[in-house]
Amino acid sequence: MEQPSVHRARRRHRGVGGPRRGHPSVRARRPGARRRRPAALTGCVGSEGTAPQHSNTCTIRGVRETNPTGSPVLHVDADAFFASVALRSRPELTARPVAVVAHVYIASANYPARARGVRSGMLATDALRQCPELTLIDVPRAEVEEVGDALFDIFHGCATAVEPGSIEEAFLDVGATDWAAAIHAGHALRRRVASELGIPISVGVGSTKLMAKLASRRAKPDGLYVIEAGEEAELRTTLPLTDVWGIGATTLARLTRIGVFRLGDVDGIPQNELQHVCGTAMARRLWRIRAGTDDALLRPVEQRTVLTAEGSTAGYGRPDHTPQELTLACVERLCKRATRAGLAGTGITLTLRPETGGKAIVLKRTLVGATTGRDTWLSVAADLLAGERVPRLAGLRVSLTGLLPLDRVQHTLF
Ligand SMILES: [Mg+2]
Repeated sequence: MEQPSVHRARRRHRGVGGPRRGHPSVRARRPGARRRRPAALTGCVGSEGTAPQHSNTCTIRGVRETNPTGSPVLHVDADAFFASVALRSRPELTARPVAVVAHVYIASANYPARARGVRSGMLATDALRQCPELTLIDVPRAEVEEVGDALFDIFHGCATAVEPGSIEEAFLDVGATDWAAAIHAGHALRRRVASELGIPISVGVGSTKLMAKLASRRAKPDGLYVIEAGEEAELRTTLPLTDVWGIGATTLARLTRIGVFRLGDVDGIPQNELQHVCGTAMARRLWRIRAGTDDALLRPVEQRTVLTAEGSTAGYGRPDHTPQELTLACVERLCKRATRAGLAGTGITLTLRPETGGKAIVLKRTLVGATTGRDTWLSVAADLLAGERVPRLAGLRVSLTGLLPLDRVQHTLF
């Protein structure tokens, strides 16, 4: 079981693996209950554990975009989320290789399956060839959404700020005043999710969002990991750029050509050259990460002005993945997210990526008032598509723009 005081020795904490006792179902949300909760730690914080020693001083380039509380950042990520949800009602399969399938592709594989070479995105037939004893289960979509919602309810219940990354992943500011409290909150969160939802999550604790994300990667599966000051300093020199999220393949290739493979390599590149090769924004980001002044500021969804959802047809070629179908799914997802966050949008942008490559087609419309009305946005999106000769698509992106808090736009709702 978890022993918070052990983190200095190894900093890696695993929870109990295998089936969850009783496989509790998702706790029903009270009708009308809001997702946003007041800032409270729900008893997560204690005094156990010893805090790693981090310096708060920034001596190098830039100013860290810090969260107002100055507390360490938690990155929380469910392990093999779809597979874990599917296994809640099949405890006898937990220790065996299992994967959930969307159409003909592996959507998520549990860790025993991963150990046998099964990966997300593989064709199910290839996965079976790789691991003949693999059990395949269809994605339990409704249950996945329900558990995802319940997971975020828990996040909001124990954090002062939540920045979602996906349906099963978020950065959290738990309002902890020191590292020990943050670690304690991470352990409490893991226990709570395991007992209430019956799925494992991994928690990373770091001084910035990048460090927290790297930590959660190291924590997997079903663990908690803290990147302490010594390791952080080393990472800021030796971390391969492939481990820094947000660097595209083209930029990576350009950086590689000038000899930048790891963070520390930027030291040897003149400022102008780095900016020329990867653009000013990316160059600044790399310098900040190198200097330890990178982003630690959480941007809760409630403060966003744009929400985006993406749909892809790549590899599927199914008749129901028409542009209209993809748009419908994206719009529904966006309206749901906006409503939960208490936001209403005034505009919509559709970015269509043709299957043959080339320039994306961008379609936009702004309404006179703000709304989260699904039917309104569906009809606007359908109208935009109808006015365009839409080629076969590799995918599309839908953005709800001009978001405003609902309480500021009540009078304009329709
Ligand atoms: Mg995950």
